[in-house]
Amino acid sequence: MTINILGVRYNVTEVPIVCRDEFRKGQIDYIKNEITIDEALPKESRDQVLMHEIIHAICDLQGLYDIGDDENKVQSLATALHQVFKDNAISF
Ligand SMILES: [Zn+2]
Repeated sequence: MTINILGVRYNVTEVPIVCRDEFRKGQIDYIKNEITIDEALPKESRDQVLMHEIIHAICDLQGLYDIGDDENKVQSLATALHQVFKDNAISF
């Protein structure tokens, strides 16, 4: 899957191992514009991880490094936005 974030196309792939050095549910590569997500996660968790990585991408593109470099802030926004979009029929 490819997603457009602020005009930049990111490749999203689900993989068996996201990172060989440490356990990670997901990761974003700002050079290759690639988002990888652990394929073993339940669908709900994969969607949440995708939202997390999307927020990292937005922060990187917008220069919001104080938020993007803070995993707690990114995760807090990700779980909140994921819930709101999931539980409401919002379309634009
Ligand atoms: Zn993160």
